[in-house]
Amino acid sequence: MINEIFYSLQGEGFLAGVPSVFIRVAGCPLRCRWCDTKYAQEAQAGTEYDINEIVRAVGKWMCRHIVITGGEPMVNDGLPQLARELKAAGKHITIETAGIAYIPDMPCDLMSISPKLSNSTPTTEDSPKGRERQKSEDRRQKSEDRRQNTEGRSLAPTPVVGAGPTDLRGKKFSGPDIAVLRELIANYDYQLKFVVDSVNDLPEIQETLDRIEDVDLEKVMLMPQAADRDELLAKSPVVAEMCKMVGFAFSQRLQILLWNNQRGK
Ligand code: SF4
Repeated sequence: MINEIFYSLQGEGFLAGVPSVFIRVAGCPLRCRWCDTKYAQEAQAGTEYDINEIVRAVGKWMCRHIVITGGEPMVNDGLPQLARELKAAGKHITIETAGIAYIPDMPCDLMSISPKLSNSTPTTEDSPKGRERQKSEDRRQKSEDRRQNTEGRSLAPTPVVGAGPTDLRGKKFSGPDIAVLRELIANYDYQLKFVVDSVNDLPEIQETLDRIEDVDLEKVMLMPQAADRDELLAKSPVVAEMCKMVGFAFSQRLQILLWNNQRGK
């Protein structure tokens, strides 16, 4: 299922700035709090494409670099065949993944892995249970409002009962899948991009790297968590200082810097 195919610049990682065609696959089992492609999280957010149709669509642009992104491409059954067809067409393939699934023997020039830290844990509103709980709370609130209205009382706002937006953070997060990450870095050329919310994420990044073992630290990058250009510019100096402190590379997020996270750019 394909959500969108478009031509732009690779925004992140060691290939930032390279003109690339993006194939966005629909569907991702995660619900990161700061996901900037929420419109592609559900599998139904895509259209069924024949692999040949995808290769033809990509061929519209004279561009060697293809980025298969999501959603989460590594849980898509059609990915290995798509990668084989693109490779046969002479393309350079980057796969953007959260590192939650391993597929062996797939043509891939760069496995761009972004392991999720606890800072990605969905808020109450973002998680499926949270959304259900919020809906039920909304229903309860409406019915209470109606009752109060009928009784001629005021409709002063009532505080939302239940968990606040941070209640899932640190509780439900089960951590990156270290076994999968080990397989990915052992079998593919890779980069590891960590999304950083604050300097407090550093111990968790270090611990994740220690647990994976055998990581080439020159392939590790930190990039600021940012929903828009203002947030990116505000956080970038902090992340840059972190990079200088620990020796990891700083990852651009050109799609935010240049186009303020506009879809299809
Ligand atoms: S893994 Fe990526 S696509 Fe999936 S929810 Fe997280 S940021 Fe969004």
